[in-house]
Amino acid sequence: MAKQPMLKFISVDRVMPEKRGADKRREDFHEIYAEFADAKAKEQASRCSQCGVPYCQTHCPLHNNIPDWLRLTAEGRLKEAYELSQLTNTFPEICGRICPQDRLCEGNCVIEQSGHGTVTIGAVEKYITDTAWQEGWVETITPARERAESVGIIGAGPGGLAAADVLRRVGIQVTVYDRYDRGGGLLTYGIPGFKLEKDVVMRRVKQLEKGGVTFVLNCDVGKDITFDEIRGKHNAVMIATGVYKSRDLQGPGAGANGIVRAIDYLTASNRVCFGDTVPEFESGELNAAGKRIVVVGGGDTAMDCVRTAIRQGAKSVTCLYRRDRENMPGSQREVQNAEEEGVKFEWLSAPKGFAGDPVTSVKVQKMRLGAPDATGRQSPEPIEGAEHDEPADLVIKALGFEPEDLPTLWNQKELEVTRWGTIKAEFTSGQTAMDGVFAVGDIVRGASLVVWAIRDGRDSAAAVLNHLNAAQAVAAE
Ligand SMILES: Cc1cc2nc3c(=O)[nH]c(=O)nc-3n(C[C@H](O)[C@H](O)[C@H](O)COP(=O)(O)OP(=O)(O)OC[C@H]3O[C@@H](n4cnc5c(N)ncnc54)[C@H](O)[C@@H]3O)c2cc1C
Ligand code: SF4
Repeated sequence: MAKQPMLKFISVDRVMPEKRGADKRREDFHEIYAEFADAKAKEQASRCSQCGVPYCQTHCPLHNNIPDWLRLTAEGRLKEAYELSQLTNTFPEICGRICPQDRLCEGNCVIEQSGHGTVTIGAVEKYITDTAWQEGWVETITPARERAESVGIIGAGPGGLAAADVLRRVGIQVTVYDRYDRGGGLLTYGIPGFKLEKDVVMRRVKQLEKGGVTFVLNCDVGKDITFDEIRGKHNAVMIATGVYKSRDLQGPGAGANGIVRAIDYLTASNRVCFGDTVPEFESGELNAAGKRIVVVGGGDTAMDCVRTAIRQGAKSVTCLYRRDRENMPGSQREVQNAEEEGVKFEWLSAPKGFAGDPVTSVKVQKMRLGAPDATGRQSPEPIEGAEHDEPADLVIKALGFEPEDLPTLWNQKELEVTRWGTIKAEFTSGQTAMDGVFAVGDIVRGASLVVWAIRDGRDSAAAVLNHLNAAQAVAAE
């Protein structure tokens, strides 16, 4: 009988791919984790306990068939592992890199709950698909037949691209419009290279282009082309525009020079990494080199800003967050990475005001956690008299994002939105209040995750297909 390759979690310890030392990784924007060697990927996959009811799969937004592709990896059947993994995930190598696995698949791994350390699901998923690219197993999209119908997708982020992939595979003519000059959305211009190297994203954009998806870039819908024009050109439209309105800081001096938005700062840095000329970076406005940096916020965006500032050669980097470490929204893994790289965290601290123009310091108000609010989360409240000045040459606001007012910007009163300004769309299908108009990703959910945008894009593409098929059936009657 063949030797049992799985359930090795008792004899094999959990090992992540090697992480580069903090001193080395501070010097560049390359990813910080190496790739698994083949034997290590096999060994780590073999730790899976092959649960009958796999909680990892249930808690993966894409319901990836994790135990099966782990088993195939452990058996050395990598091509089959890849084929299975790409059936449910459009961009497995991207999710493997940047999903907050500790909150999703790995956070629900049963062997972790029995004290053995979770299977390194994300790292194996990345390994499988990176290998598939290397080996030439990732095929060009070639629809069996072309269809006449066309779909216009506004937004080339993960939501829009996942939908484009599904629709193109069945021969629909797909055009993706984006106001940026490159596809990828926040994968390209938000998330820094040390979490997700840009050639990984560009490779996917090229795959779609090669497969016949048309990209219309540098095209801001509402300015360069109207929403009505797009609707007139296509049989269905999908809105996948994400959320980009930054929440603002309050307090005296909050409008001073030297206080900048995280999205501008990260976009400039990503552009510089592409080799683009970025005047705001050259002038120092969005460059941390030699400066004392204060980042305000405790989410993933704040973590990306502090770690970018370190790599740009900041003199010091301090992160202010109004709650404590346990109650921050950002991933604990990223806080640990940031601390290793030299970031100082001031927990239970909020900015009360700013001195100087350009800014020279932040007045920091110390906080404590008070009674829980309606959501059950403890509200931070100021401790009277507990304040100090934190010197700062550049303050980066990373307080979260809200949707832009699309019905007004696009002059579409029929496009219904929620009280948070996100587009009202049916669960799963993404159908909006307008016939033939669908919406996916952050513009529906509010700021969320890449894996959820992919899920929405895939689900909604299936609904768009139903819509097109129904229209075709009516036309044929
Ligand atoms: C700094 C940062 C770090 C993050 N880190 C992580 C992480 O580690 N893991 C994770 O899972 N998630 C992370 N996220 C969240 C994740 O990036 C988003 O949830 C995801 O990208 C949403 O996908 P989307 O397709 O809905 O929108 P987006 O990725 O925002 O793409 C929307 C696209 O629409 C375009 N667009 C907008 N308006 C128009 C218009 N009027 N005309 C034409 N084009 C338009 C934009 O240019 C953009 O390209 C992070 C977010 C940020 C900001
Ligand atoms: S897509 Fe994300 S949540 Fe799902 S298995 Fe991969 S890393 Fe885990």
